[in-house]
Amino acid sequence: SRLKDGLSKTKKGITDRVDQLLKSYVKIDEELFEDLEEILITSDVGVNTTMDIVEQLKDRVKSKKITDAIHVRDELKEILSDMLGDEQSNLNIEPSPAIILVVGVNGVGKTTTIGKMANRFKKEGKNVLLAAGDTFRAAAIDQLEVWADRVGVDIIKHSEGSDPGAVIFDAIAAAKSRKADVLICDTAGRLHNKKNLMNELGKVFKIVDREYPQASKEVLLVVDATTGQNAISQAKVFKEAANITGIVLTKLDGTAKGGVVLAVKSELNVPVKLIGVGEQMEDLQDFNSKDFVKALFG
Ligand code: GDP
Repeated sequence: SRLKDGLSKTKKGITDRVDQLLKSYVKIDEELFEDLEEILITSDVGVNTTMDIVEQLKDRVKSKKITDAIHVRDELKEILSDMLGDEQSNLNIEPSPAIILVVGVNGVGKTTTIGKMANRFKKEGKNVLLAAGDTFRAAAIDQLEVWADRVGVDIIKHSEGSDPGAVIFDAIAAAKSRKADVLICDTAGRLHNKKNLMNELGKVFKIVDREYPQASKEVLLVVDATTGQNAISQAKVFKEAANITGIVLTKLDGTAKGGVVLAVKSELNVPVKLIGVGEQMEDLQDFNSKDFVKALFG
């Protein structure tokens, strides 16, 4: 499956190493747990989350009197499963109309994610409109337009350097008059500092609340899985600056360190709603924790 293919590097980075480790052990001792810790930490699971996982594992091994290293695998799988929690958090885009604000720093895959979402919604028969709210870079506007053409949806844009709030205002007016089901808005991907970010996003959010209160609203933060713990710190800044309702983790196909999914889940308390597992239109999936663990551990 696409998910399994997309996670093949992470499977090598985590599961295959865990399996190798468990195969080579004859008894369960402190050294085994330390080696497990090492695998998880180097897979970007994060130090705190790793400690938590290994502590749980030790407790289970003790209370269940597990003596066979291979059974440790089942316990680990279950702990990860529990940690990832609810199977799936759906996008809040029903009932229509809906507005999705997409935030995140440049290069993480924001434009691509917007294009992929637009494609998906259009295929579902929805009337989709895009807004080029990142007016700070001409390239951002152009790239979004390329995706709009590719998918075959309309885009509202102003020229480079214009007020992002004005773009969103116009886009909402257009969404109303064209009866769009979903309006997907790009936003500026600059991250000078938190205050700046809050100001920029704050203006846009105010316009949305004032002009489109009837819309179902989703605020998606896009982060790049290949940047590991950096993605976590970025997410923390954005979380303080805006009311993030979901996370999109892109480029999972490009990293062996997909353990970052666990760190996001346990350190941010915002659901991962979508994952990117490739550059093509179809490479955007709902994040489903059961499927995720299954793709890794079978
Ligand atoms: P933006 O600056 O945040 O809008 O980033 P872009 O959408 O332009 O994406 C930056 C690069 O990442 C492009 O080359 C995309 O093709 C690539 N990209 C985005 N999402 C994914 C993904 O899920 N997997 C892979 N492998 N590449 C991706």
